[in-house]
Amino acid sequence: MTKTVPFNKAKIEEIIQTYPTPFHIYDEAAMIANAQQLQAAFSWNEGFKEFFAVKAAPNPYLIKILSQVGFGCDCSSYPELLLSESAGVVGENIMFTSNNTAAYEYKKARELGAVINLDDISHIAYLEEHAGLPDLLSFRYNPGNLKEGNDIIGSPEEAKYGFTEAQLFEGYKILQQKGIKRFGIHTMVASNELNNDYFIETAEIMFKLIVKLHTQLGIRFEFVNLGGGIGIPYRPDQKPVDIQYISNGIKKKFEEIIVANGLAPLKIFLESGRYITGPYGYLVTRVQHFKQTYRDYVGVDASMSNLMRPGMYGAYHHITVLGKEFAPKIHTYDVTGSLCENNDKFAIHRELPKIEIGDILVIHDTGAHGHAMGFNYNGKLRSAELLLRTDGSVVQIRRAETVEDYFATLDFSGVSSFK
Ligand SMILES: *Cc1c(COP(=O)(O)O)cnc(C)c1O
Repeated sequence: MTKTVPFNKAKIEEIIQTYPTPFHIYDEAAMIANAQQLQAAFSWNEGFKEFFAVKAAPNPYLIKILSQVGFGCDCSSYPELLLSESAGVVGENIMFTSNNTAAYEYKKARELGAVINLDDISHIAYLEEHAGLPDLLSFRYNPGNLKEGNDIIGSPEEAKYGFTEAQLFEGYKILQQKGIKRFGIHTMVASNELNNDYFIETAEIMFKLIVKLHTQLGIRFEFVNLGGGIGIPYRPDQKPVDIQYISNGIKKKFEEIIVANGLAPLKIFLESGRYITGPYGYLVTRVQHFKQTYRDYVGVDASMSNLMRPGMYGAYHHITVLGKEFAPKIHTYDVTGSLCENNDKFAIHRELPKIEIGDILVIHDTGAHGHAMGFNYNGKLRSAELLLRTDGSVVQIRRAETVEDYFATLDFSGVSSFK
């Protein structure tokens, strides 16, 4: 599939007049269309809900847009809970899926009435002691060697997350003894997975587990949360997932296992991040230097502090040179940032059109785990985030950091007298 951008060079040049490069820009119309498609695909399931994984793109404007499509928020920390609250997403529209959680985070989750999804059996007592038990609780299941993992999340057996199957039985029994009446169950075993059948298999495992838990403990589950992890085609030769196929496959298993055992209604929840915003964000950066040594280097004004995935995972991010979309890709470059780290490269040995200083590069698929993973190492400042609205206008939804932001936690007045 050819990868395209939702703006042309003239439009970006115009935006740069107000907001200098580098910046991330999000395509609202495409994001909404995709969100609506996901909702429609699962509309057969009464109560279906996607809880957007806030960590993917922690911005209240994006949360607000998604909440208007009907999405909730999946949070895992205190600040993420605050972000969700600021966008008006509260109560059971929040799924709190955290791990190694501190008491003050559970307290905030309880205060907001979030659905709490515990990562470990020992957290039942911890939650009760520090924040009190809610009337609805969910546990995160780690299927161990029942399921193969993938590169980003690793093998479930080696993952720090979740309960073993035996702990689930024990844990729900404890909840029953404590008088809890509303139950959920969760798993998240993949990340950036493009195999459609993987999600259907996961649903099948969970549906069967729900039957087993019901048979042994008499529990009726309100929801099953199948987690996030739906992948996106970063490379032009990759195929996007077929969300309708996934939904149809899950529906079939739902009927065969849940309905057949009299366990419907059962709400299906998802907590995807990447799939929701990933393809709809672009990092826009300008070429400031060209260097020829043992290789040809294109030096841009963004660095891995704006997008860490290539440096961290060796991830591929497609690059479009604005105004040269159809030019032959007859040059091979490394596209680099300015960090004193050799893995600060957006692309290695990439075939691109001939690049000149001043060219604007658009790095694709930065809408999830892009700006969010930014950092300040080497004195790098995080960029602005812009929103390309459905009507073609552009709003800044986060300003770029300044040196003052970077120094905000230092007290320089103490330095001169410090010996
Ligand atoms: C990261 C994460 C998600 C979202 O993952 P994506 O790969 O962005 O879909 C959802 N749930 C939990 C618990 C996570 O840690």
